Amino acid sequence: MTSSKDRTILIVEDNEMNMKLARDVLEVNGYQIVAATSGEQGLKLAPQTNPNAVLLDIQLPDLDGVEVFQRLREDPQTAQIPVIAFTASVTAVDKSRVKDAGFDGFVSKPIDLKSFVATVDQVVMGGSK
Ligand code: MN
Repeated sequence: MTSSKDRTILIVEDNEMNMKLARDVLEVNGYQIVAATSGEQGLKLAPQTNPNAVLLDIQLPDLDGVEVFQRLREDPQTAQIPVIAFTASVTAVDKSRVKDAGFDGFVSKPIDLKSFVATVDQVVMGGSK
């Protein structure tokens, strides 16, 4: 039997405050957290930790979040992991670029606690594992 305690979220986020808030909220809701602060670190940790979902910042110091997403999808080891875009991007161009990429969910910053947890729960439960 799977409980939420068996569920792991990989958070890829370079902003310390956003990372802390997302981590705290998800831990309170029973998730285990793996943290990465760059795109390359996220790409390394995803196949190693096989999380139930990835919460992926779009503006990272090294790689563009959409590129990280595409690389996760191209790797057979990580292709099935649901990915949630975690973005403060507000321009229409950014929004459509993220939407077109095919993410499994979207969470906007600043975090709205209720919809944030609901989105993560929904993506994790709708995921392939
Ligand atoms: Mn960022």
